[in-house]
Amino acid sequence: MLSHQVTAYGRPLERREAALPEPRAAEVLLRVGACGVCHSDIHLWEGAFDLGAGKRLDLTQGRDLPHTLGHEIAGEVVAVGPEAVGVAVGDRRVVYPWLGCGACPRCAAGDEHLCPTGRPIGVGRAGGFADHVLLPHPRCLFDYAPLGEALAATYACSGLTAFGALRKVSAAGVAGGELLIVGLGGVGMAALGLAPSVVEAPVLCADVDPGRLVVAGRRGAAGTFDVSAADAVKQIKRRTGGGVAAAVDFVGSERSAALAFGALAPGGTLIVVGLFGGALQLALPLLPLKQITIRGSYVGSPAEMAELLALGRSGSVPELPIDERPLAAAQTALDDLRAGRVTGRVVLRA
Ligand SMILES: [Zn+2]
Ligand SMILES: [Zn+2]
Repeated sequence: MLSHQVTAYGRPLERREAALPEPRAAEVLLRVGACGVCHSDIHLWEGAFDLGAGKRLDLTQGRDLPHTLGHEIAGEVVAVGPEAVGVAVGDRRVVYPWLGCGACPRCAAGDEHLCPTGRPIGVGRAGGFADHVLLPHPRCLFDYAPLGEALAATYACSGLTAFGALRKVSAAGVAGGELLIVGLGGVGMAALGLAPSVVEAPVLCADVDPGRLVVAGRRGAAGTFDVSAADAVKQIKRRTGGGVAAAVDFVGSERSAALAFGALAPGGTLIVVGLFGGALQLALPLLPLKQITIRGSYVGSPAEMAELLALGRSGSVPELPIDERPLAAAQTALDDLRAGRVTGRVVLRA
């Protein structure tokens, strides 16, 4: 089994070989066909999140090194443990990586992704920057036919994260207003494609990269805004007649969150999704005076994964731009993503 592993935080990934593991109990061995590269892989590789004001959240706990990154995985089942039910060798499946303990009240309520002791695949246990991955239980496997393998892989994080956030926008209500997407990386682009199926509102997009804004315009954005313009918030307010009903910040930086917050109309909702890092400075009186809601959204539940796959199958979701690269290019993919040189999603093909 070949893996590109983190052997020391922040150091280049190392290519390592090991014997193929044999699945025990309910475990399943999957041959990896495709594995997406996510921004959170960068944080896990570096071992920290920037919390702003010089503070860092340590991410080195909860896993042993060497560690194999990669949580957007699709492939083919090649071996199953004796207690693995409902799965067979030859099945082609996408992996729901945000598995919880399966036993606590959170997991029982269907929110495995919020389980306090969960060990997500590629985060707390070995992931898909490899030619094989050992999975703890068949409940993490979802049939993706007839979707393509690389596209299905991206559903596990960027697609699911976008869908989970849009579901919250839909629940908050947009009542004739607009939705603003801030940040057009893999998740923001996925949200732009999914939005018409989930939220009844014109979608505006903001980003620092003019090229991505052009792509967004072609992919259905009703308006695009350059975040680097000093008057970006004013432009959005002018365009919307006073602000947007909801804004989803897929960057999660001080600048992006401030822009998204500033662009809200009275009664608006800000949903922070991105994990870039930083702290949000708020004029507190604006919360009550404008009756603003701020909430976070983290990936999505197994039920949302199933709903997203159904939506994908219905054909109403435009495909995310995918940049396929060989597994051997895992490190370059992380470097390019960190440097902002990626449009859409990089997917490694083993
Ligand atoms: Zn991810
Ligand atoms: Zn749990």
